[in-house]
Amino acid sequence: MIKKKIPAAPSIRRLPSYLHLIRQAQSDGFEFISATTIANELVLEPIQVRKDLAMTGITGKPKRGYSVIKLITAIEHFLGWDSVKNAILIGAGNLGTALTGYQEFVKHGLVFVAAFDNNEEKIGTIIHNVPVYSFDDLKTKLKRLNVSIAVLTVPSSQAQAITDKLVEAGIKAIWNFTNIKLKVPENVVVQRDDLTSGYALLSFVLGKAD
Ligand code: ATP
Repeated sequence: MIKKKIPAAPSIRRLPSYLHLIRQAQSDGFEFISATTIANELVLEPIQVRKDLAMTGITGKPKRGYSVIKLITAIEHFLGWDSVKNAILIGAGNLGTALTGYQEFVKHGLVFVAAFDNNEEKIGTIIHNVPVYSFDDLKTKLKRLNVSIAVLTVPSSQAQAITDKLVEAGIKAIWNFTNIKLKVPENVVVQRDDLTSGYALLSFVLGKAD
């Protein structure tokens, strides 16, 4: 029961900020951008930037740097942001509802096709164009939907039990917004982004500043 590791995770996490900067350069009319420019803007080492970009299969030209258009295409393709991935939401509460309405996901190919909940008042409703089904119908609905990712926004106390059911239903990737470290089989990948951990850091720092 070991969590599947995402290779080169820190490098992958940096790519969206490169992409943002490179798009900016493109709209400013630049055809080429150097690793040094990217590094300076983002306060990184140029060698780190070159290494990260090499992962995407693109190489820069000496003195000119990287073709902006080619770099954008290469990063988007490497991240899989140029293809559509269907997602389901588990837990149509406040956080989950907000995520289904977040348009940046759609821009990057992440499309919510269904939500699941156990609250009778929510089942049968529609949130941001996404139908909410009973969690009991998960397996049946999944047969008809080509789902790649399950986004977990249920209370933490429910997280592991629900995860076990998701795994049983064949889900291979879980984006976990609860503060539970989920136990999953090796062939399932979990990304945890618990907002309360981030807030804990801020709150701690503020407390120290008093
Ligand atoms: P609300 O008060 O509207 O439910 P919330 O965001 O405060 O919103 P949470 O208690 O965090 O709600 O729960 C998130 C969502 O997860 C809710 O919609 C809830 O109905 C749902 N949920 C809770 N337990 C389960 C479960 N066992 N299976 C499926 N969904 C669940």
